[in-house]
Formats: sequence, C-alpha cells, structure tokens
Amino acid sequence: MSSTWHILGAGSLGSLWACRLARASKAVRLILRDSTRLQAYQQVGSLGLLEQDLTAHYAIPAETAQGIGPIHRLLVACKAYDAAPAVASVAGRLVPGAEVLLLQNGLGSQDEVARQVPQARCIFVSSTEGAYLEHDWQVRFAGQGYNWLGDPGNPAPPPWLEDLQAAGIPAQWTPDILTRLWRKLAINCAINPLTVLHQCRNGGLLGHLDQVQALCLELESLLLQCGQPQAAQNLEQDVQRVLLATASNYASMYQDVQAGRRTEVHYLLGYACQAARRHGLHLPYLEHLHQRLVDNLRARGLPCD
Ligand code: NAP
Repeated sequence: MSSTWHILGAGSLGSLWACRLARASKAVRLILRDSTRLQAYQQVGSLGLLEQDLTAHYAIPAETAQGIGPIHRLLVACKAYDAAPAVASVAGRLVPGAEVLLLQNGLGSQDEVARQVPQARCIFVSSTEGAYLEHDWQVRFAGQGYNWLGDPGNPAPPPWLEDLQAAGIPAQWTPDILTRLWRKLAINCAINPLTVLHQCRNGGLLGHLDQVQALCLELESLLLQCGQPQAAQNLEQDVQRVLLATASNYASMYQDVQAGRRTEVHYLLGYACQAARRHGLHLPYLEHLHQRLVDNLRARGLPCD
C-alpha cells in the first residue's frame, strides 16, 4: 500500500498534521475544497506552521477531490458537519482497504462517513491538541495535547503508527476509542453550551456549579444507558477540574458563536439528546439546554444542525 498521507481539509488541524508529517519527510498531499481554493493555495505555494514565534514553511503538493490517483490513507480534517460530504467527494478514489482517519469532535459524523465508504477502514481520532489559523495557509500550534486513535470494529493497530512518532505527533492506539469520544463529548456538553448562554469564559461557570452539576448527573445516566460506564466515572469532578484548569479560556463553541461561525452542536449536545431519546431516557435538563442553545443560535442567524 502507498504510504502517502492525503489530508482532506487544510484548516487548523489538517494543516498542523500536514506540516508535521512533511517536516518528517513523509509523503503528504492536500485535498482542497475546490479549484478556487487550490489556486489561492498555489499562489502562496506552501503551508506555514507557527510554533513559539518561529514559522516554518512546507511546500506540500495540493489538488482538489477531482485529482486523479488512488487514495490509500486519508486524514479527514473537516468540521463534523462537512466530513461526510467531503469524504463522498473522494470516495471513488479510495482503494479497497483504504484507511480513513477521522479527526472530528463529537459523535455521529464518524458513522455518517463510514456509511459512505464501506470499502475503507475508518479509524476514529480523539485529539486534545490545539491549533488555529492565523490566516489562510498559516496555522499556529496553540496547545500541546494528545491524539488517541482506535477502530471500534477492529482492535489491531495499523502499521504506520510509527510515522506519527517520527513526525512528533503524540499519538497512541486504544481499543477504547468510543469511551474517549463519549467522555470528551460529555465534558463538552457540560461546559460549552453554558458558556454560550452565560456569555462567559470557562471559569465563569464556577459561579453556576448548580447547573453544571445537574447536567453532569443527567450525562452520567446517559453514558451508563449507552454502555459507557467508564466514560461516566467521576464526570462531575473531571468537569470541575477542566473549569479550573482552563478558567481563562473561551470554549470552542463560544468562540465559533462570537465569530459568527457554524457550531458542531448537532454532533455534541444534539447527539447526546438524540441518544437519550433512542434509549427512552427522559433528561429534562439536557433537553432544555439544547432547546435554549438552538433558540440562541437561531436568534443569531446561525445554523443549529
Ligand atoms: P477548520 O479550521 O474549520 O478546518 C476545516 C477545513 O475543512 C477548512 O479548511 C475547510 O475548507 C475544509 N473543508 C470543508 N469541506 C471540505 C471539502 N469538501 N473539501 C476539502 N476541504 C474541506 O477546523 P478545525 O479547527 O481544524 O477542526 C476540524 C475538526 O477537528 C473539528 O471537528 C474540530 O472540532 C476538531 N478539533 C479541532 C481542534 C483545534 O484546535 N482546531 C482540536 C481538537 C479537535 P475551507 O477553508 O475551504 O472552508
């Protein structure tokens, strides 16, 4: 199998992964949204990675989905709501047994993608690294973190994990990737929507711990009902730890809303509420929070799906 890393989406995380892989002399190709974006990239000719005020540039080749050539390994670095349509656009180029790595936050988009590409092996990634675009084609590495990779249908790790070590991408294979994704989703549900509704930094929620606690209790019962007891363990303590450790930060959903960007609510709180309904669980606090958030987004003219 070819060892080229095709990166679908040159946004924050896609650029961060692409630059580090290119720096380690791995073969990388970017797949950009359309010919307009491709031309814009070609005028610049490289991706910039900013780390501790040093910028390094990597002239990574790029193409659109219409490019020719088979794809053996694809890193999907779009937002959750874009992942399935983006993968559909390259589905015809994926060889049987291709590996598709899914960086999306939340849950739901991974299954949407898997349905599109039955010929591929989908590997889910839960990332705690932080990056943002300073401007087009220039990414700032903003927060050290970790990447957990796993395949819920096949516990065998892929042979290229050492590529990631060689590229300085902190990563580990886990047989419990769904536990990690559920835990992250639950923490996100307990924090992000409230920061939008209260218009505050994470630390501002320390003044609303009664609401955080009510949410955590419902989220714990949801996790147990969904067969995720490990993800439910000490959820509230963990949420409080995150609030203290990130008190001066703005949550990603808060930042999206402030910037007038679409949020990933459908794959976070929306997914949690859907799962509760599927299991016949009545979680009034979570439902009410979802409704208030949807109303808030609508009032701002932002999509809520
Ligand atoms: P982002 O900066 O918005 O980048 C997404 C990229 O996907 C954009 O460049 C967009 O292209 C591209 N895209 C969308 N549809 C496409 C298509 N059909 N073909 C090609 N490219 C397409 O998003 P991000 O912050 O990297 O987040 C990606 C995922 O990682 C999200 O689920 C996020 O929650 C998760 N995550 C992010 C971070 C972080 O620190 N950024 C940390 C952990 C997890 P255009 O530029 O043309 O719009």
